[in-house]
Amino acid sequence: MSGKIQAIRGMHDILPDQAHAWRHIENTIIAVINSYCYQEIRIPVVEKTELFARSIGELSDIVTKEMYTFTDRNDESLTLRPEGTAGCVRAGLEHGLFHNQIQKLWYIGPMFRHERPQKGRQRQFHQIGLEAFGLSGPDIDAELIILCARIWQTLKLDSITLQLNTLGTATTRNHYKELLIEYFSGYKEQLDKDSQHRLYNNPLRILDSKNPDMQSIISGAPSIHDHLDAESSDHFAGLRAILDETAIAYTINPYLVRGLDYYGKTVFEWTTDLLGAQGTVCAGGRYDGLVEHFGGKPAPAIGCAMGLERLIDLVQLDNTMDDSTGIPQIYLILADEAIQTGLKLAEDLRKMVPGLRLMSHCGGGSFKSQFKKADKSGAQLAIILGQEELINQTVRVKSLRDGSAQNTMPCVNLAEYVKQYLAVVGYFENA
Ligand code: ATP
Ligand code: MG
Repeated sequence: MSGKIQAIRGMHDILPDQAHAWRHIENTIIAVINSYCYQEIRIPVVEKTELFARSIGELSDIVTKEMYTFTDRNDESLTLRPEGTAGCVRAGLEHGLFHNQIQKLWYIGPMFRHERPQKGRQRQFHQIGLEAFGLSGPDIDAELIILCARIWQTLKLDSITLQLNTLGTATTRNHYKELLIEYFSGYKEQLDKDSQHRLYNNPLRILDSKNPDMQSIISGAPSIHDHLDAESSDHFAGLRAILDETAIAYTINPYLVRGLDYYGKTVFEWTTDLLGAQGTVCAGGRYDGLVEHFGGKPAPAIGCAMGLERLIDLVQLDNTMDDSTGIPQIYLILADEAIQTGLKLAEDLRKMVPGLRLMSHCGGGSFKSQFKKADKSGAQLAIILGQEELINQTVRVKSLRDGSAQNTMPCVNLAEYVKQYLAVVGYFENA
């Protein structure tokens, strides 16, 4: 075969000039999650197709149109995970994590959906997700939302707002679905094809339609809030009371439903106006029935997932992120004869100055060309080890930023010098 092979449409490389921002943002989010004592779970990227079909719902967009499904060499139908909840539930059941236990879990990784690629919508995208099992009260719903708010605050994202709704108990939902069928049947001719299809199967999904032509019909639909049973409205009131107390602002959107079939009671979305059409950065809700649906003893659960591509776009729009983490603080310049001693010296420095970002010059060349590379690297300080220094067991140091003179010192003094130098230029703040 000849010609260049390119990446698959909608699946992007994250190149070094972006990857350090990704790592920084992931680490920031994970540190917040750790402070709430959620535990990481790592689950496979591929699962049996049936897992997603049965949890996300046979009629959902994901299952009908978006899954990467293939038959493996054993003729088994497998699917690249389009989301993380189904796998967490499968893993938890398989390893007995749910029975009479509380689990607060998080995961990170790529998800796959065959959607139309556009800004904020890829075919391979990345999520960090949170799932809490074994808790039925509104306290955990509130905690999850508060945790998200803490993440936005830590990332200095103040354009993100919360939309909140309840889908009620199964009783409420069944009654409400009948009301929706009755209402939407009155507009049968005007409904788009998807909505007609959903009318009798799952009319709640009509509310989730992204079709602008449907919005005026949807906005006249009955509100679930006029039809909540006592359990549904108590739960929702309990959640609102905690959010009010902790000063988390929200808008109640009576038409907010989630794209997956298994949600009930609390559902929520965090959105921003700054990203255009793809403004939802995080979405989640309660799915009390799912564990039982997969054959486990009933275990209440709630979860959410945030889209990392969209969050990273948002952080970068803001432009306040410290992105110095990829830039060396020190560049080590070496004469050919000094390579062995130099690399040993570099290791000693890394050991003695934790967090130090030191780039050793590789590939030889004149001092002049090495200095050029040192300058370009963005480093603050060059350490030079030439023939003469090698013999005298000294090094030369030179600031690359303020034009001050070179300075020769014994190798044994170097670590202390570096620590002091970096403290003076304020480098340890971001280390
Ligand atoms: P959307 O309405 O944008 O299609 P969704 O309801 O399908 O989102 P979820 O399944 O709830 O999304 O996923 C949670 C989050 O993951 C979304 O809010 C979004 O930030 C992100 N996400 C979902 N699909 C994609 C995608 N194809 N590309 C990039 N991010 C995505
Ligand atoms: Mg979607």
